[in-house]
Amino acid sequence: MKNKLLAFNWKSNKTKIETKDWLVDASSVEVPEGIQVVVFPPFTLLDVMNGYIRVNSLPFSIGAQDVSPYGKGAYTGEVSAEQVKEFSEYVLIGHSERRSNLKEDNELISKKVDQALSQELKIIVCVSSLDELSGLKPEGLVIAYEPINAIGTGNASDPKDVEEMAKKIKDVGFQNVIYGGSVNSENIKTFLDLPSIDGALIGGESLDPKSFINIIGNAV
Ligand code: PEP
Repeated sequence: MKNKLLAFNWKSNKTKIETKDWLVDASSVEVPEGIQVVVFPPFTLLDVMNGYIRVNSLPFSIGAQDVSPYGKGAYTGEVSAEQVKEFSEYVLIGHSERRSNLKEDNELISKKVDQALSQELKIIVCVSSLDELSGLKPEGLVIAYEPINAIGTGNASDPKDVEEMAKKIKDVGFQNVIYGGSVNSENIKTFLDLPSIDGALIGGESLDPKSFINIIGNAV
């Protein structure tokens, strides 16, 4: 069976105490064969989560939600790929919330990708259209296709539209495409069963450990 990637994005949610509670409750998760799970907490929680996951041998990896477009040096507030790599295997780049709130453009996103590649991080780049693939080389990238009107709205996209778009992304050379936008434990299997879809990016439903466990349980 082909491996499917489930990526859980916490966005700017949870304190250290809330994270410890989540980890305790999520510890009973059973990850089926062929499913790979990555959680993306905020930077402030990477160390706590990394330690807990390793000590308790939890069956998932963690990733950062962003990375600096620069290397180390005089870049106040940025977190370099080398620093991310100390705690994370993965990084998320170009989420639509950053593209819209922080005006991140394709050029900036390409610089972030280059930094992440230089540290051999596993990279997920989020796009909502084919234009947002501009400047990206397919090697080493997972593309998360996330239609804007499906993110955080409870209105997941029509699976037929998702398949059509994922196929177009694959046709221009990207080998791994995941879908994001109001994925939950009820619809996860429908999306994962699409021929051109290799996983899912989940936002809101990742915050509750029960939903997290149910989504993973319903993925096969
Ligand atoms: C996301 O944050 O990328 C996302 C898809 O969020 P949600 O699952 O809440 O729609």
